Amino acid sequence: MASFDLKELPHRRFNPLTGTWVLVSPHRTERPWQGQVEQVPTEPPPSYDDQCYMCPGNKRAAGARNPDYKNTFIFGNDYPPLLPGTPDGGMDQEGLLVAAGETGICRVLCFSPRHDLTISRMETPDLRRVVDAWVEQWQELGNHPFINYVQIFENRGAMMGASNPHPHGQIWASSSIPDEPAKEQAAQQSHYRRYGSCLLCCYVSLEQKSGERLICENDHFAAIVPFWAIWPFETILISRRHAASLVDLSSQERNSLADILKRLTAKYDAVFQVPFPYSMGFHQRPTDGQSREEWHLHAHFYPPLLRSATVRKFMVGYEMLATPQRDVTPESAAQRLRCEGKK
Ligand SMILES: [Zn+2]
Ligand SMILES: [Zn+2]
Ligand SMILES: [Zn+2]
Repeated sequence: MASFDLKELPHRRFNPLTGTWVLVSPHRTERPWQGQVEQVPTEPPPSYDDQCYMCPGNKRAAGARNPDYKNTFIFGNDYPPLLPGTPDGGMDQEGLLVAAGETGICRVLCFSPRHDLTISRMETPDLRRVVDAWVEQWQELGNHPFINYVQIFENRGAMMGASNPHPHGQIWASSSIPDEPAKEQAAQQSHYRRYGSCLLCCYVSLEQKSGERLICENDHFAAIVPFWAIWPFETILISRRHAASLVDLSSQERNSLADILKRLTAKYDAVFQVPFPYSMGFHQRPTDGQSREEWHLHAHFYPPLLRSATVRKFMVGYEMLATPQRDVTPESAAQRLRCEGKK
């Protein structure tokens, strides 16, 4: 293929994990902004809030009272989007009106008893406890015969719709494999069959060689602005060793995960001098009991901010109807996100 200036010319990039494309328009970055401006939180929240249903000792919506917990705390979602024991059933009319009953379990994981902390401001040993809780939950929920996929995620900040600033994440375990991991599974499987190697192992080694989009690393993990990033400051966190799930991580690797989570999110906060909003989550092998040698554990961070703490990216118009588009190239986003002292 003829060489092409990715820094100057409009082009599209392929996401090999999902088989989708993103349009990149680097010539447009000087476009003036007259759109919506967001509010920046002015005051940090207090370390304890008596109105918060996640703080220790407080009452939750359904009436249960939280224990006086000291580290992490897990409870069943009081308004769960999925229920265990949903009966089998559904409908299929000519392949057009199709529905299927879905069973699952939804939990909330408080990362800390402190109402005011964020992952970026927690101590690394405390984050290690969060990693351990994710591992235990993934294992316990995945062991249910009716659970085939466990999605661990965090919505941070009002801009991402997080209704409560208390540091917490969610775990939704379902009987079916949701769309995003299903797409990634198909892509990883076909790469494995075609090349006899793991898609993300190959990708990490390419990024390692170029270093252009690598922003942060330690002995066991690398954080990269993916070549195909859609969100301006999107990153992917990939284990260096081929591991299919969090359960496969050694104790040292769990420490490294805690370390890189802290450094990556602290860097995010530093970019616009605000607690950076994002949705993040892990993708790992399904818990359907099949051997999934093609699966490689990773986490995605999708932050909505575009050019300042108050200007966010909207996925509208062309992006809803055609394909996602970005102006700032992933390479220049990586320059801004690069952590000092890569370790
Ligand atoms: Zn709280
Ligand atoms: Zn791999
Ligand atoms: Zn993924």
